[in-house]
Amino acid sequence: MQGYALRVSETRVTETENLPSSGERRNARVILNRLAKIYPDMDTALQYANPWQLLVATVMSAQTTDENVNKVTPVLFDRYPTPEDLAAANPEDVEKIIYSTGYYRQKTKSIIALAGDLVDRYGGEVPSTLAELVEMRGVGRKTASVVLAEVWDIPAIAVDTHVKRVANRVGLTNTADPVKVERDLMALYPEERWAEISMTVIQFGRDVCDARTPRCWSCPLRDRCTYDDKTPQP
Ligand code: SF4
Repeated sequence: MQGYALRVSETRVTETENLPSSGERRNARVILNRLAKIYPDMDTALQYANPWQLLVATVMSAQTTDENVNKVTPVLFDRYPTPEDLAAANPEDVEKIIYSTGYYRQKTKSIIALAGDLVDRYGGEVPSTLAELVEMRGVGRKTASVVLAEVWDIPAIAVDTHVKRVANRVGLTNTADPVKVERDLMALYPEERWAEISMTVIQFGRDVCDARTPRCWSCPLRDRCTYDDKTPQP
């Protein structure tokens, strides 16, 4: 599949050319419908009590599981309940708390800087636009999309490593660039399905379409998949 030439402003498609055909949209719909049947009502597994906590937890979820993040966030937010508290934290103390999530030094820097930016720029309130979210240090497009969809119910597609891999394997995109993957998925699906894409595809990528050994022999998308190196039945 060729990448679609779409321009996306914020999370909205504003200009289009070379749009997907009706057949490509139908195929994309079948794929998502099958995943939705397997994973109905998917929500983030990250536990949080407010938008600020989700923002921090999402940044910390890089390169680890949501379960690992959930083990440390109660301690972290008990110690630093507000963005102001975390912005003023001693990095060594934060590192000790989040150590088990991996990359703890970088994550500590990111969440302290993020807390500082949140206080300085937005008075401690999590903003509700992609442009404002990604202005903060430590917040990439993926994290911003998770917050927009989860907290503000704004259509957004968070493209992580699982979404990128699966979307390429099943032929919904053909690029490694996460922004282009996001753009191609936005072209294929109506806005009301954008938020659901990330959660279902991420879970499918973890459970079935593994990076190294995809379980192709029992995959519900096998007949739709364009991946050449399907894993044979063991
Ligand atoms: S057939 Fe294999 S590569 Fe294709 S989507 Fe299924 S698990 Fe992934």
